Amino acid sequence: MTKIIDGTKIAENLRKKVHSKVKLLKKQYNFVPGLAVIIVGNDPASKVYVKNKIVFTKEVGMNSYEYKLDEEISQKKLVDLIQTLNDDPEIHGILCQLPLPKHINESEIINVISHKKDVDGFNIKNVGLLNTKQLSLVPCTPQGCIILLKSYLKNLEGKKATIIGRSNIVGKPLVSLLLKENCTVTIAHSKTKKLDNITKNSDILIAAVGKAKYIKDYHIKRGSIIIDVGINRVNFSENGTTKTKLVGDVDYDNVIKKAGAITPVPGGVGPMTIACLLNNTFIACCRIHNLNEEVHFNT
Ligand code: NDP
Repeated sequence: MTKIIDGTKIAENLRKKVHSKVKLLKKQYNFVPGLAVIIVGNDPASKVYVKNKIVFTKEVGMNSYEYKLDEEISQKKLVDLIQTLNDDPEIHGILCQLPLPKHINESEIINVISHKKDVDGFNIKNVGLLNTKQLSLVPCTPQGCIILLKSYLKNLEGKKATIIGRSNIVGKPLVSLLLKENCTVTIAHSKTKKLDNITKNSDILIAAVGKAKYIKDYHIKRGSIIIDVGINRVNFSENGTTKTKLVGDVDYDNVIKKAGAITPVPGGVGPMTIACLLNNTFIACCRIHNLNEEVHFNT
């Protein structure tokens, strides 16, 4: 029987854990983690993501600060705001919702965020720290993928893992995280030849392609673990009307009988991303106050 890895439940458990630790932090030290979320412009998907992040930040007992900025804001004004937040002792995490408008230099913005408050883990300093096995803030979606994998298989050592997609936010950080788990890692991308020859030998397959239902049963090894990062909105027809729904990069119905375990979309990686963001904000707060999050708050 294929195991459906329930990201909704695992994310809920992680949020509960964070909530308990936030309560302890307040009780013992009177610190409350604060997360600042910056949104520029009116992108509908970004608005939904930011709304959810704010709801869950409050749910786990943290302070939430939202900065809604005009689409036309200048680079300088955005940099100035981030520098103010870097210096604000009430704020422990800063997140600038991507994508930013075309006139903004995204890399500069990411790197202006203090690496200690970079809860997305995209800052060049955190990238370097992660790649050299030093203490860093780890990007949320890749972190969520590892938690989901380990919920099914505690020890990933020696497993052949393939990631499809080499983006800075998903594919590349996953290489470091899977190497840390002693997997043998392959990363594939749009120029990879004979993708299925690689993927069908993989014990673990992580799809971060951005193409609806791209991965079929001939891509996968029987009994393998499939983590579907993709979020794609597609049209479908019901009772003569056109509706939309979310699907992953994996053709779930096509692979379900062959996989050993799989994450659904929705309800897989998506909820983990927000839960890991909250976890990162808690960790950032502890480190800023020189508290060891492992030792002081091991609930
Ligand atoms: P990007 O568009 O940045 O990267 C997509 C990657 O897929 C690229 O490396 C690209 O290769 C590769 N690719 C494209 N076509 C193929 C192909 N035919 N064969 C093999 N590789 C291919 O996407 P992201 O990493 O930002 O996101 C990937 C997916 O994950 C999206 O659906 C996104 O919505 C979703 N996502 C979900 C999150 C969550 O919380 N669940 C968070 C972030 C993203 P190349 O580099 O050569 O162009």
